[in-house]
Amino acid sequence: MKDRSLLMIPGPIEFEPEVLQALGAPTTSHVAPNFIDAFGCALENMRKVWLAPEGQPFIVAGSGTLAMELAGANLIEPGDRALVLSTGVFGDRFEDLLTRHGADVTVLHAPIGEALDLNQVEDALKGGEYKLLTVTHVDTSTAVRMPIRSIGELAQHYNVLSIVDGVCSVAGEEIQQGDWGLDVVLTASQKAIGVPPGLALLVASPRAMEASSARSSSVRSYYADWAKWLPIMTAYEGRKPSYFGTPAVNLVAALDVSLRQIVDEGMSARFARHELLADAFRAAVQSLGMGFVATEPKDQANTLTACRYPNGVAAGDLLPAIKQAGVIVAGGLHPKIKSEYFRVGHMGAVCMGDILATIGAIETGLRSVGHQFEAGIGVATALKWQAEQED
Ligand code: PMP
Repeated sequence: MKDRSLLMIPGPIEFEPEVLQALGAPTTSHVAPNFIDAFGCALENMRKVWLAPEGQPFIVAGSGTLAMELAGANLIEPGDRALVLSTGVFGDRFEDLLTRHGADVTVLHAPIGEALDLNQVEDALKGGEYKLLTVTHVDTSTAVRMPIRSIGELAQHYNVLSIVDGVCSVAGEEIQQGDWGLDVVLTASQKAIGVPPGLALLVASPRAMEASSARSSSVRSYYADWAKWLPIMTAYEGRKPSYFGTPAVNLVAALDVSLRQIVDEGMSARFARHELLADAFRAAVQSLGMGFVATEPKDQANTLTACRYPNGVAAGDLLPAIKQAGVIVAGGLHPKIKSEYFRVGHMGAVCMGDILATIGAIETGLRSVGHQFEAGIGVATALKWQAEQED
């Protein structure tokens, strides 16, 4: 029997075998020709995945929080005003981070489970004299998705730089960084990008690069300073070696493989696959008598779902039962509603078979804790949903 559960948390996710093979290959020198080529190709493919032909990609060893720090540290100078749009825990993290870098931060908090109202955002931007705003595309604590295209338009209109935390969205949710005028779109390797944890990734617009070079004070982080990393990215893209900090050689090689797979799938096909699987999953969850933290369909992410426990079912009972049935899902994260919901990631290499296995395990878990429903209804609903889309 295969001694492995299906990992359906919102990152790290299940990875493609070819990606893991690249990760496990013998480590080369960071100036070896094959590594220089892998690094260069990864940078080029980031522009395609982010749909940001003019953007400057950065690949730096670290987690998603470092990607947030790379954006904040380079664009904020002490006293700059920043507007944080928060739809959960990760929005709040930006408040903390930008404050640490000396920003004067205003936060707009959405009610839990809702996206922020665009009129409210526009009212804040009017006369707010903000240098930048941050928006969490999909907040992993609530599974709420923000309409970043409209946020980008507002930011452009009010001449404010926009930073998108796309840790739970890049390569899963539609993002057209270039056309939508977004200044920084950042992520981490372990989610829809499909590479084990350890890489902070971002693409900065020409406007963001100009803003960072026009600073009057030096960047308050040594490791996160774009000026240290830009020559490295430029060199590798020009297929020349360079050094500031030793790159995570195996992770970059794995990233190269994963980005090639993503580009081969095609961005619109990839976005459509995520949408179809998310819709099928949610239809199945609803058929089992559960609701969602994000109540409005337009606010529901395609990369993960936050499912509310049915009445009378407790986290401590259901999650181990789902695990026992072979699938690992994640508990609640938002401190105010932590015990009321669980989270299921469906991004990256996810396929219909994974969705069906997950629904099957949730059904098994629900039955074992005494929840009443028609046996098989969840799996049948997901399959029916898929069939309807194909007709
Ligand atoms: N932003 C979002 C939306 C996230 O989901 C996460 C991680 N779950 C982070 C930022 C932070 O990323 P990391 O844990 O890789 O530092």
